[in-house]
Amino acid sequence: MATAQELQELIRGLGLDGIVDAHVHPLTILSEQDLLKAIEEAGVKLCALLALDVDPGELDDERRARAFIQEMLNAGIWDVRALDMAKELLRKALTPNERVASMVRRYPGLFMGFGSVNPSKPMGYVLERLREIEDLGLSGIKLIPTLQLFCPHKAKKALNKVLKFCRRANMLVMFHTGCDPGPWEAPALSRCARPSLLEPFIRSFPEVRFILAHAGSYSARVPGIWFDEAVKLARAYGNVWLDVAAVPYLLVEPRFVEALRRAGLLGRVLFGSDYPVIGTSIAEVAYEVLCSSSLSDGEKAQVMALNAEELLAS
Ligand SMILES: [Zn+2]
Repeated sequence: MATAQELQELIRGLGLDGIVDAHVHPLTILSEQDLLKAIEEAGVKLCALLALDVDPGELDDERRARAFIQEMLNAGIWDVRALDMAKELLRKALTPNERVASMVRRYPGLFMGFGSVNPSKPMGYVLERLREIEDLGLSGIKLIPTLQLFCPHKAKKALNKVLKFCRRANMLVMFHTGCDPGPWEAPALSRCARPSLLEPFIRSFPEVRFILAHAGSYSARVPGIWFDEAVKLARAYGNVWLDVAAVPYLLVEPRFVEALRRAGLLGRVLFGSDYPVIGTSIAEVAYEVLCSSSLSDGEKAQVMALNAEELLAS
């Protein structure tokens, strides 16, 4: 593992004064002190913090639980503990908008914040959350079909509201794409997080900038699972960016890097660590990409900082 000093030298060698991490979760179990330490040792100068508006109580509701169990059975999951595992993951993931906003307020130059709204909730709830996100002065909205238990084509009405809001307030929108840990490792259970389902929205809202988190690729079983769909969308629409959170190998393995380069997308790929969800430090993930032999120095400077600076500053 690289020391903080080695990392700094690699970063400076690219002509950068720090890197940008577009994907960090300030989970309630993560202390502010630990987060600041992880950021400092990785040479991060700007970091996007993501709220997650998920409802741990949702799967306590008997009707929702029964529907979820049926979906798990359809996905081939017969493990009786899977429902409890899902509930536990939701409890850990819940990150209030106010928590993100208060960290941004305390460190305005270092952090920028994405609020979150659960589009599977009633419209009154969605509108209230959007108001909250605007009042808190956040810069974008994070949506996650897996943990928020929604499917884009079924939540069309709420998503259109969210995207109209983003268009008016000039906010970014980040969609989780790909599988997720726990029961959501079963691709069938994560099918609502396929990038292709977002196409009608990306097409209808050309003024809204979409970040496809994980570039459709996260999956422990099938790494790169829906990478091709994500690349196809980003290639077709100039308002799509891809982050490599939890999938840094997209910037290391030649087959992925070549596909991104061929599609002309290395100017729209963002470094993200997914810290602390992935269990490694930000520095380790950054080091992996900074040492990639598939990228030129210019491309490294783009994905590690320049692309995100341009996107987040506009
Ligand atoms: Zn994440």
